[in-house]
Amino acid sequence: MKSAKDKGKPMSFMEFAEKYATEEACREKMFEARWPEGFVCPKCGEKKCCFITSRNAYQCNRCKHRTTPKVGALMEDSPLPYKTWLWAIYLVATDKRGISGKSLQRQLHVTYKTAWYSGNSKLYENAHHYFDYIKLGKYIKELGGLNSSTTNQRFYRIENERMIDMTYKFYKQ
Ligand SMILES: [Zn+2]
Repeated sequence: MKSAKDKGKPMSFMEFAEKYATEEACREKMFEARWPEGFVCPKCGEKKCCFITSRNAYQCNRCKHRTTPKVGALMEDSPLPYKTWLWAIYLVATDKRGISGKSLQRQLHVTYKTAWYSGNSKLYENAHHYFDYIKLGKYIKELGGLNSSTTNQRFYRIENERMIDMTYKFYKQ
């Protein structure tokens, strides 16, 4: 048991590495982070889902929509393992000096495009050095998700360290 004093303290790297050694543990953690109140289908609002191993995605029990906790709509087929995602988030969030994108790539063996899916409205410092795509903004039901023209969420492509707003690409025609 953790004492109240430890609450909110970042985990040490050893603790983190032990706890999230497997793909499954990382997936569960990201599931909790994405849906802290439990799963909610982004299409129909259903609360029950099951994990489809062959698709590496969660499937809504009602409408069969598949989704993953790691990515925004555009990146749902991202081949990055959950472990890579979670470890990238941990490394970016805990390194006070700000680790370089190259160092992150070395540690995680990431060579393909990476995206940061965040419910936060603010960026971690230097996050645009580590990712090719970044999504920001808490989901607010009344405003809708990325495919709604009233959304507060934003989706950026990073090019030469500049954030280019791509949100309009998601709007329903
Ligand atoms: Zn559904």
